[in-house]
Amino acid sequence: MSALTELYEEMALCQQCEIAKSRNRVVPGEGAEDADLLFIGEAPGWHEDQQGRPFVGQAGQYLDELLASINLNRKQVYIANVIKCRPQGNRDPLPAEIANCREWLDRQIELIRPRIIVTLGRYSMARYFPGKTIGKIHGTAQKRDNVIYYAMYHPAAALHQQSLRTTIESEMRKIPSLLAQVELIPEDKPSAQQLKMFEE
Ligand code: URA
Repeated sequence: MSALTELYEEMALCQQCEIAKSRNRVVPGEGAEDADLLFIGEAPGWHEDQQGRPFVGQAGQYLDELLASINLNRKQVYIANVIKCRPQGNRDPLPAEIANCREWLDRQIELIRPRIIVTLGRYSMARYFPGKTIGKIHGTAQKRDNVIYYAMYHPAAALHQQSLRTTIESEMRKIPSLLAQVELIPEDKPSAQQLKMFEE
């Protein structure tokens, strides 16, 4: 059994939050255990809670399309969420839930060791770009400790809004060149704005 699978077994027993009582399944994440690219969404919705898999509803289908646009599929990347249980009624995750789940996500990242962490939406963005707003930093990247953090809109937000859709699609197409240039991108220092130069 892989270390990641062992971690899933531990997660399945987690009862730290109230929402553990109402969940159907824990949704740890899925994909390549040694993925270069890790996508982090917000929280499981109804479909994810039913299946125990991340991004399997409408937003997930769109994420699959976005991945296909750069010739990838979900088996070649890793997809996770900030929190692993579904908040009832699809409400936003609570700060305490995010804090309780933090260790799970950290341990996943330690095991996967991705080169690029793509934050999808404001909850995962807040984790890696504290104090920033998604409207300002989407499409920008920062390198810290040899990992690139790249902020994108959440696919669910982009799904029904044509302007965001165009944006998320073009920002997705920048990922292959980011990945190809991981080693060349300098650590942190140049501002996120400067790194917004990675054109398609
Ligand atoms: N939205 C998310 O942020 N995560 C999922 O797994 C599904 C929808």
